[in-house]
Amino acid sequence: MGDSLAGKYGLILGVANKRSIAWSCARALADQGMRLAFNYATERLRGGVEELAAELPGSLVLPCDVTDAAQIDGLFESLKREFGALDALVHAVAFARREELAGDFFDTSREGYMIAHEVSAYSLTAMTRRAVPLMEGRSGSIVTLTYIGSERVIPNYNIMGIAKAALEASVRYLAHDLGPRGIRVNAVSAGPIRTLSASGVAGFSNILDEIASRAPLRRNIDADEVGDVCAFLCSHASRGITGSTLYVDAGYHIMGV
Ligand code: NAP
Repeated sequence: MGDSLAGKYGLILGVANKRSIAWSCARALADQGMRLAFNYATERLRGGVEELAAELPGSLVLPCDVTDAAQIDGLFESLKREFGALDALVHAVAFARREELAGDFFDTSREGYMIAHEVSAYSLTAMTRRAVPLMEGRSGSIVTLTYIGSERVIPNYNIMGIAKAALEASVRYLAHDLGPRGIRVNAVSAGPIRTLSASGVAGFSNILDEIASRAPLRRNIDADEVGDVCAFLCSHASRGITGSTLYVDAGYHIMGV
């Protein structure tokens, strides 16, 4: 445990359970001394998030469904009151209907298309807008999670690939907007990890097998490897990086055939 992030405050969106990538990000940031706030999207998840957050002393746990503007406003009012400032925003939230994560992409419904984009892409912009006033003058860092299905066809990933492409483009536009204020915005493109969300993608086990046999490192990654890069992106060490997508995927993204 270090103290390079002592005196700093972070908001972590997307802890569902201990397998969540957001939880690995949280532990990596807390290890460096950052004080954290967590959201829970529904009452059903509240107890689990509170139990995990209790492992990191001083943490806050607040309700926030990212599709609900009133709840987002409420979350940031609480943060302003409790922390008074924000240095890091980790956005590890995504959703698509299970039936849209199998079969043909052209069968995607209008509603399914909209939901996936609202939760998985627009929410980054909605949260960033509220975070900016709290990050003013503090060299804030915003990190989101993406997947290579935004740039290459991953069978069954379908609408999430389109939403992740919008998310990555949002990162670049937000980085351009916020750079003059000293706020950085980046994405981490993670290799496949067995989490609650991932289990919704049809054929997910086959994807894990493919990476283990073809990625340069000949293995899959784990969530803690993503957490460490997230902590790097929220630290002084990454002060020259913004608008980028960093791959934590055992090198799989460089492969052609
Ligand atoms: P996860 O543990 O299931 O986390 C996803 C989180 O998004 C959950 O906490 C979920 O809460 C939350 N969420 C969904 N809809 C929401 C809403 N309307 N409001 C607020 N929160 C909402 O899965 P994960 O794999 O760690 O996913 C984290 C991020 O990493 C996602 O952006 C995902 O696309 C990305 N990613 C994952 C992988 C992978 O292979 N696992 C690879 C690359 C990128 P509920 O449970 O309540 O829905």
